[in-house]
Amino acid sequence: MFNVIRIPAFNDNYIWLLRRGAAAVVVDPGDAQPVIELLKREGLSLAAILITHHHADHQGGIPALLAHCLCPVFGPAAESITGLTTALIGGESIHIDALDAAFQVIPVPGHTLGHLAYYSAGSLFCGDTLFGGGCGRLFEGTPAQMLDSLERLAALPDETAVYCAHEYTQANLRFAQAVEPGNLNLQERIEAVAIARAQGLPTVPSTIALEKATNPFLRSSEASVVFSVQNREPDRVPKISDALETFTALREWKNIY
Ligand code: ZN
Ligand code: FE
Repeated sequence: MFNVIRIPAFNDNYIWLLRRGAAAVVVDPGDAQPVIELLKREGLSLAAILITHHHADHQGGIPALLAHCLCPVFGPAAESITGLTTALIGGESIHIDALDAAFQVIPVPGHTLGHLAYYSAGSLFCGDTLFGGGCGRLFEGTPAQMLDSLERLAALPDETAVYCAHEYTQANLRFAQAVEPGNLNLQERIEAVAIARAQGLPTVPSTIALEKATNPFLRSSEASVVFSVQNREPDRVPKISDALETFTALREWKNIY
């Protein structure tokens, strides 16, 4: 299959490079320069570019990469993506011969309306939808769309490696802690993440199992999360009663946290 190589970009972005032999595929190259450097250093040629959504920090490097090495660009049909050659809506399966790998394309609207995630061989590339301990902001979609999208990702196997596009975990977990001060799995994760970050190490990828245990945005049906959200607005009428209302209130809370 492929190895996944992390390419840090900008302040806190990760570009993921999938490698098999001398072939490489990059996910969300917001910046071309660190990608081209790695391609040159390792003698790799670019077989494809996968794009999750249209924001510049995810697609800004496409023109320079195509100038360096012409290859197909996969991305959301519903969004404006530079150099797009294969427009996807989600639900497709794409085979990338150079990696000898098939990718399931998962529609995950919410952060943007056309946002896609790519799943292959136990690895999930989910852009700005699911983060370590959090989820993307709702720039274009509704809370209902985002909750649906996150549930689609949470249904993947527990051991799935979650390759999100930003190193936001530590800040996200501070919010998670405010929501679920009694979550022991969360305590453990906060400690592990503090140790990793103090050493300058990444916290990504995580796993679906870890996110389900500690990420409040995958836990809006948990009594502890519902309680915490209700408790924040005790006078609210009608009371927050279902997962969508809880999720919506959580996302709003996080926005101002
Ligand atoms: Zn984004
Ligand atoms: Fe982003």
